Amino acid sequence: MLSFITNAKSADWSYGGNSGPDFWCQISSGCCGQRQSPVDLNLLKISVKSAFQFVAYDQMPASATMVNNGHSIAVTFSSDIVPRIHDGGLNSTYFFHSLHMHWGSQNNRGSEHTFARRSFPMEMHLVHYNAKFASLGAAIQSRESDALAVLGVMFEVGLTSHPSLGKMTARMGSVQYNGQSTSIESFSLGSMLPSSRALFYRYAGSLTTPSCDEVVAWTVFMATTTMSSQQLESLRQVYASNRDEEPPIEMSDNYRPVHNQKKWCEISDSCCGKYQSPIELWDNERKTQMTPFVFINYSVLPKTVAIENNGHTITLTFTGVTPKISGGGLRHTYILSSLHFHWGVNNYQGAEHILNNRQAPMELHMVHYKSKFSNLTEAISSGEKDALAVLGVLYWIDNRNSNPSLDQITSRLRYVKYNGQSTQIKSFSLRKLIPASTTYFFRYWGSLTTPTCDEVVVWTVFREPGFLTNAQMNAFRATYSTGENEAATETIANNYRQVQRLNRRTVYQGKESRYGHYHY
Ligand SMILES: [Zn+2]
Ligand SMILES: [Zn+2]
Repeated sequence: MLSFITNAKSADWSYGGNSGPDFWCQISSGCCGQRQSPVDLNLLKISVKSAFQFVAYDQMPASATMVNNGHSIAVTFSSDIVPRIHDGGLNSTYFFHSLHMHWGSQNNRGSEHTFARRSFPMEMHLVHYNAKFASLGAAIQSRESDALAVLGVMFEVGLTSHPSLGKMTARMGSVQYNGQSTSIESFSLGSMLPSSRALFYRYAGSLTTPSCDEVVAWTVFMATTTMSSQQLESLRQVYASNRDEEPPIEMSDNYRPVHNQKKWCEISDSCCGKYQSPIELWDNERKTQMTPFVFINYSVLPKTVAIENNGHTITLTFTGVTPKISGGGLRHTYILSSLHFHWGVNNYQGAEHILNNRQAPMELHMVHYKSKFSNLTEAISSGEKDALAVLGVLYWIDNRNSNPSLDQITSRLRYVKYNGQSTQIKSFSLRKLIPASTTYFFRYWGSLTTPTCDEVVVWTVFREPGFLTNAQMNAFRATYSTGENEAATETIANNYRQVQRLNRRTVYQGKESRYGHYHY
């Protein structure tokens, strides 16, 4: 989508093969950014802001033009009054530029965004640019995070046809091939929106096609709208290729997948493995009694504690003590190697594991390796599926319930603001970073959540959360993945991996019990 407004030539990229989404990063480095779209949307991310104001949305523009740009079917208007939007939580007024669609070759796919993992057969994008810019191109070039406002509307297949969409589909034969355009009967923009516009998802993201610029304030309406299967079929007759190109390439499935971190597979095949982490966790997972956790040397103060910014996260390492864990259903004793954090740009995202469809703002990982190995690297390279035991703690915001141990870290983060920096911090008891009660926890087999994604981890995620204050959280957000002397700065925030498919794995909800057993 949006290809017609970006610099990338249409031949540069596609939705499949060796110029498909997995390779977009190589075509345009912007596609490897931290705030890429689309994303999976869930109830957590619904945002009810001041009501949208739609100006000239109910007027019929003087004329409408439909074009096949090789990636999508787009419509532009010529009109005395440019349709525009403001409010709805947007900071500015946005002029309408064009609309286009993403659709699937089957009804179970097509949309770019997903709602709690559910795809729709079609998603329409109404592209607007901030009124302070002279044009869409100028808006994108500003690189400001809210230069564009795109409205996303999900279309479902139903018994009734969509009258305005019908004005497009009626002329689809005239734009069957790339480069063709035609005038169509005009329609009001408002007629493309769902009748209920009160609930919508909002997040800061990117264009979903190369160059993937992170300049979009996204709005995706929760309410869907309906089209007929005949209307969808007429879209499926359209080609991405030119009229004289053989064989013709169908345009259907012109959506970018949510899991754009697929590119990691290029770094390591393991990242496309079957038993990847993180995953979704639910309170109704299979209940199992397990031996109680034993934390050895966890309350002994380390001689030194060092924090480091490695460009991906903040890590902590220790000297003078060897913290270990056993029990918790684990078959072996594991030695603590280091710990690190995952967090988001706001309080609605950050954790890797999603618990009951809710994403905590931060997740702590305490990485341990089986004691028969002499270090972490040796454990990982063994390939044993229980070579590592990682303990995960989901941290939520509570401004009256700050964690003093976490303060030792957050108060020193300003000394490791940039990639490559490290410093010593005051020693503290590691046990304090784990919830007081470890009675309930989730257990499954999984992987490292960063390349090389080795499937060597017995995961524990504690049911009991940890807490931190907004101020502590913001200290994490003020660290950079870039070095001190680099011209461009980029924050580390959103250093979490999207949830991965379970692929028939069993997730256990463990309960500590002296009658419990080893189980994993
Ligand atoms: Zn689009
Ligand atoms: Zn981690």
